[in-house]
Amino acid sequence: MIQLKDMTIKKAHQHLMDSDFTIPDLVEACLKNIQEKNKDVNAYLEVFGDAIDRAKELQLKIKDHDNDLLYGIPLAVKDNILIEGKKVSAASKILEGYKATYDATVVKKLKENGAIFLGRTNMDEFAMGSSTENSSFGVTHNPYDLSCVAGGSSGGSAAAVAMNSALYALGSDTGGSIRQPAAFCGLVGLKPSYGAVSRYGLIAMGSSLDQIGPLSKTVEDAEIIFKAISGHDPMDSTSALEDVRYQYRQRQADRDADIFRIGVPREFLSGDGINKETLDNFNNSLKKLESIGYKIVDVEMPLTKYSLPVYYILMPAEVSTNLSRFDGVRYGLHVSGKDLLDTYKMTRGNGFGQEVRRRIILGTYILSHGYYDAYYNKAKKLRFQIENEFLKIFDLPTGGVDAIATPTTPAPAFKIGEKIKDPVQMYLSDIFTVSANIAGVPALSIPAGVNKDNLPLDLHLTAPHFREDILFEIGKKFEKVNQSCQQV
Ligand code: GLN
Repeated sequence: MIQLKDMTIKKAHQHLMDSDFTIPDLVEACLKNIQEKNKDVNAYLEVFGDAIDRAKELQLKIKDHDNDLLYGIPLAVKDNILIEGKKVSAASKILEGYKATYDATVVKKLKENGAIFLGRTNMDEFAMGSSTENSSFGVTHNPYDLSCVAGGSSGGSAAAVAMNSALYALGSDTGGSIRQPAAFCGLVGLKPSYGAVSRYGLIAMGSSLDQIGPLSKTVEDAEIIFKAISGHDPMDSTSALEDVRYQYRQRQADRDADIFRIGVPREFLSGDGINKETLDNFNNSLKKLESIGYKIVDVEMPLTKYSLPVYYILMPAEVSTNLSRFDGVRYGLHVSGKDLLDTYKMTRGNGFGQEVRRRIILGTYILSHGYYDAYYNKAKKLRFQIENEFLKIFDLPTGGVDAIATPTTPAPAFKIGEKIKDPVQMYLSDIFTVSANIAGVPALSIPAGVNKDNLPLDLHLTAPHFREDILFEIGKKFEKVNQSCQQV
């Protein structure tokens, strides 16, 4: 039987090429782990019945694909990314029975690369949450400790990879939803630059913040997936043109030193919101980065602390508009009322869970006449200034840095039920991740050891727009010096 514990995309590809096992063998090994573990973990909402058939079909042509690293490699997909003909629900009752009528661009690209889709994974409803406790289909448990959350909102995708039932997974990240669950489950998680990966076929939460990205076991794997799914897409008007990407990269190109400088926003790490073990481990990670030749410098980012408040204005405003399309007529659930207005109320009242309703109400208030200027426009201005703060920090000619380091999360995975009654505590889980979405810059979470209870700890790196390559370079070197988390 194939051991999936330390199996990466790169290794599996080599084994397939060397005929150590076949694509159907690999898919069966994943399905076996799903069968054994999913009842306790609840990572998958649905396992697709056609994976083995596709594996057999792909196996016939394996010899033509020795350079296609994703060929025949099975993955799991978050339940807010469309796969033609498959159900998709964003873990919400309101999309009950709905089937995708087209492939998301990322899915189309992966299909062209020979990927095998194992199933769709659990998540916080419409990606709103940090623990996958807001799903309409039960909580996802952390494979490292079943009494803990897997993080959120891409908790199912993280748990699927951490329980060795898929070689990688796709998630979406609006304020931290790839990186935080990756961190809680000992994985690598990448939130690409805004506009790097097409959002076409992603069920929108906050359109100006959302990005699709990979959760994987290694930085190298994340890079392979990112290369396959990124690129300009005419179907997404916010997808960056290739020359725009190039221009952004050029800003950084004239660096005079070879040594990367990594900035640490110290004052941002000094509050009592951060767990001591996490902080000690982070300081250790900085020493490791120094030991492999990076220069660590302190940076000041006084506006970054406003990222979370700005997020909790802009995101609900966008949520309230994006989710208005779920009206009981166009998609999924329909609950008949005495007239049209009543039908809307009945459908939306029954279909949406508590957190989603909370955010729609908040967002609608923020956008209402009289409050729009006071909240929405103010937050937008501040967002612009936060983005400028990042541009300044990354401006090399004026003494800027190549990347910024913080922990990904203020503490390791928390217990199921611990924060669900206190939304503000839950929102603070994203304190270190959300600024990358506000500024549109790429960010990577990398495993950085375990705590005394064997729960994963993490390191978070942020780079300038469209400089994912910097994250991969530092990340791969860091991985080597860091004793990686024990896989479960
Ligand atoms: N946890 C954050 C929230 O609840 C981020 C969610 C996300 O990135 N999708 O909004």
